[in-house]
Amino acid sequence: MKGTTFLHFIGGQFVDSESGREFEKRSPIDGSLIGMVAEGGQREVDAAVRAATDAMAGPWRRLTLAQRSDMLYAVAREIDRRFDDFLDAEVNDTGKPRSVASHVDIPRGAANFRIFADAVKNVPTEFFEMQTPEGRQAFNYSLRVPKGVIAVVCPWNLPLLLMTWKVAPALACGNTVVVKPSEETPATATLLGEVMQTVGVPPGVYNVVHGLGEGSAGELLTRHPGVAAITFTGETATGTAIMKAAAQGVRPVSLELGGKNPGIVFADCDLDAAVAGIARAAFLNTGQICLGTERLYVERCIFHNFIGALKERAESLKPGHPSDKSTGIGPLISLKHREKVLSYYKQAVADGATVVCGGGIPAMSQPLSGGAWIEPTVWTGLPETSAVVREEIFGPCCHVRPFDTEDEAISLANDTPYGLAATVWTRDVARTFRMGSSLNAGIVWINSWFLRDLRTPARSNRASDARAGSIRWSSIPSCAMSASALE
Ligand code: NAD
Repeated sequence: MKGTTFLHFIGGQFVDSESGREFEKRSPIDGSLIGMVAEGGQREVDAAVRAATDAMAGPWRRLTLAQRSDMLYAVAREIDRRFDDFLDAEVNDTGKPRSVASHVDIPRGAANFRIFADAVKNVPTEFFEMQTPEGRQAFNYSLRVPKGVIAVVCPWNLPLLLMTWKVAPALACGNTVVVKPSEETPATATLLGEVMQTVGVPPGVYNVVHGLGEGSAGELLTRHPGVAAITFTGETATGTAIMKAAAQGVRPVSLELGGKNPGIVFADCDLDAAVAGIARAAFLNTGQICLGTERLYVERCIFHNFIGALKERAESLKPGHPSDKSTGIGPLISLKHREKVLSYYKQAVADGATVVCGGGIPAMSQPLSGGAWIEPTVWTGLPETSAVVREEIFGPCCHVRPFDTEDEAISLANDTPYGLAATVWTRDVARTFRMGSSLNAGIVWINSWFLRDLRTPARSNRASDARAGSIRWSSIPSCAMSASALE
């Protein structure tokens, strides 16, 4: 996409901003200019919401459930067919190793369409028989109907995966969408517009308006009165602003927000598997995964061994170009985000941390030295009150603290305003069930991490994480916490 402009996709057509305003998209790998992105304003948001509203009344509405489901399957097949285009686009935008994007982002992006195309066909509706006061028989049944135009506001860490996780269920339920991708990752949402055109999804069903957040396309879209519901993934502070916007018109909102997720490792675990699992949970995607582990509690008798093994793993992750097969870790998304992560690295030292490994910027040769590279970092010795242990950093780093009893581990893990996910490593089956119900988290993984079965919604009881299955736009109730004891 070098030298190009990422355009909006509105009413089935790629269009520029009427204002001509645009912003730069730079490569996190070396800081070079990838292209310009059209910045949407009120006109583009109005046009996209109008196109999506019109599409609700057009041929899209008349498709049967089976036809809609077939169309989503066709979208998935077209993503598969253009796998390399999506891979190039995602890798360019994010700098993540091709091995990660080809294994996680693109296949899961396509899978989201298949999963929800199937799921929506298997959702029961309610039917009740009753006696009327006159002694006659009556039937009561509920119908699932689309809500309307859904605003989809996305982050940059897993752009295609997270965006399609919202778009696919919304479309499966018969809604239309207006997507506002992250300003950092405009490419795959744009490419999906081409897929929609090729597959014959009616114009206006899928729309994309590029732009920034506050005071720009993001805010304009979430405040738009033509939007029936909002689904958002991103920072908790942005979620608060979006919830306020949703209050106008009392519109439902689905929020998938930040996390400061605990990992708990018991001495009876399979140590090698636990070290590998925690290293993945802390460093995959350069730590830019909401479900990642930034706080780790390890049973005291294995603490030193564990730290040694985790350090070895962290130091083995070689930073490098995404297409280099030996690359173990990519850059952060931007120099701006690196500043934020480095501020926590500095804070850790100021708060008295022992830096087990990392803590700075790796030496990279030209041209990569212009990228947002960062060292995977492990600390010990911080008080639980340190901002480094309490706040989401969103980088490849983790603080490790020893514990002595199960109750202590649960209490440390639960001492957070977040509640997104947790990962627990133990071979004690009874304990797995105790942990599953004692940890205040939307997902509790046992001897695993980032293993998602979209049939089990994740729901947290914390105000800061109102995460729920996006398919709820057709009123499918989400259910409770899932605990997976899979290995
Ligand atoms: P962000 O909140 O800064 O931005 C997300 C999106 O919101 C972007 O498209 C942005 O332009 C838009 N936005 C910003 N301000 C807005 C406003 N006032 N009104 C409307 N839209 C606005 O988040 P980010 O930095 O892109 O992503 C990182 C964050 O996302 C982390 O906190 C991470 O934990 C979270 N995240 C959560 C999940 C989850 O499933 N819970 C998944 C991935 C990322």
